Amino acid sequence: MGKGFLRARAVDVAALARPEVMRLVPYVGGRSLDEMKRQYGRTDFIKLASNENVLGPSPKAVAALRHAIGETHLYPEQGYPVLKAALAKRYRIKPDQVVLGDGSNELLVLACEAFLRPGDEAVIADPSFAVFAHAIEAAGAKVVRVPLRDWRHDLPAMGRAVTRRTRLVFVCNPNNPTGTMVTRRELDAFLRSLPGHLIVLLDEAYGEFASDRSFPDSLSYVRCNLRVLVVRTFAKLHGLAGLRIGYGLAPAPLADILERLRQPFNVSTLAYRAAIAALADRGHERRTLAMARAGREALARELGRLGLTPIPSQTNFVLVDTHRDGKAFATALERRGIIVRPLGHPLLRRCVRITVGSPAQHRRLLAAVRAILFG
Ligand SMILES: *Cc1c(COP(=O)(O)O)cnc(C)c1O
Repeated sequence: MGKGFLRARAVDVAALARPEVMRLVPYVGGRSLDEMKRQYGRTDFIKLASNENVLGPSPKAVAALRHAIGETHLYPEQGYPVLKAALAKRYRIKPDQVVLGDGSNELLVLACEAFLRPGDEAVIADPSFAVFAHAIEAAGAKVVRVPLRDWRHDLPAMGRAVTRRTRLVFVCNPNNPTGTMVTRRELDAFLRSLPGHLIVLLDEAYGEFASDRSFPDSLSYVRCNLRVLVVRTFAKLHGLAGLRIGYGLAPAPLADILERLRQPFNVSTLAYRAAIAALADRGHERRTLAMARAGREALARELGRLGLTPIPSQTNFVLVDTHRDGKAFATALERRGIIVRPLGHPLLRRCVRITVGSPAQHRRLLAAVRAILFG
């Protein structure tokens, strides 16, 4: 054994990391209000970039947080029984079919860690949520991308992309960043067509926002013990994005695998207590859904009137083809105090993703869009 430790330089650590880690790039989220304030020196920005809840957190969750804040010296309650029971009751399943995550993103990562070996494959739609490919690659597996068709998951093509090495298939429904959905019939037929050696992960971060009657009842798959992991979040509907809490719903043996893998206290006391209160606040849920559903229609209509092409959405955001460079368009909006999300994907270079806001925020946004388009 040599004595090189003191001579080795920090840059050499890359040679020690797993090669798949060195191929990753850090996830880049929407720009924050603080960042804008630093860059532009103004505080009146509106953020429509990350699909957060424009109504803010549930007031009941805020009250629960106030109560819980004096208990943050204590670890959270083992196993999170109260929230699990509440989720189980809402979805008519058993508490052992619920697993909580440090954001729903953690559950995506845990699923990849649990089921993907180096050389395995995972099928995703393209474009879809960027975290999928990141988590798959971090696990050392191969990402198999299947292009969207008419902005929607092409489930038959995704089925054809499945091989003996496939262990996970991701269906983001409704899809981020397009806002589109697949129907119950389409998903039923897809599941029937698949072989038995894989797990289907249904990311329903925006599931509650869908108003189309043909939206799948994914819990029916869980109740009849299909190998399906449904992932939902408190980040969007309940306005708790900053607390980081999401949940997975799956047959007990599948939930148990993720339970083994998760860190002992992956959900903080604050997130746990706030989520319990938020889940009981049906009024805040109703107001959020009403605002998003009416707002996405109004926003799409107005953007269409200005000559842009919005994609019909089942979520709390609208993807819009600006017919010009999306990044430049987003920067022009930024100079007018509005943050939206340009998309790096080659097929979406002309698009921006806009979170549905309040009527007042839409008025400001549309005035800014008019100024950009017509000077
Ligand atoms: C926002 C979002 C999530 C939520 O992630 P959290 O970790 O719960 O904040 C998950 N999936 C998709 C597709 C999303 O857009």
